[in-house]
Amino acid sequence: MLDFDLHFGDGTVNILEPKGYVTIFNPDATNRKEYLESIKRSLESVSPDIIGVSAGFDNHVKDWGGLLETEDYYEIGRMIYEKTQKLGCGSFGVLEGGYNFDVLPINVVAFVKGLGGM
Ligand SMILES: [Zn+2]
Repeated sequence: MLDFDLHFGDGTVNILEPKGYVTIFNPDATNRKEYLESIKRSLESVSPDIIGVSAGFDNHVKDWGGLLETEDYYEIGRMIYEKTQKLGCGSFGVLEGGYNFDVLPINVVAFVKGLGGM
């Protein structure tokens, strides 16, 4: 489970962590490069049957978190797509945060395009 919402996924952790068969990654970094590299390392360290994504877009430069560019959401989706292609597994995303409605739709589309290998 990759949770890139700005806020730590308490509910996700509370529900899934006790199961013991779900790896949950909540990236946390002070700059875009580190953020993306941490996701890359996390994806490299697992061999999941399916990749679930808590897709929150409130870490965008024009939202609360002020960190990620729209292209970064594409890159996150693309990294997940490449992992699913490599493993022959699937992925899904659940829309979470994103409070600036001027950029939310653009960020969602960027992520979905990456996730779909477009
Ligand atoms: Zn949030």
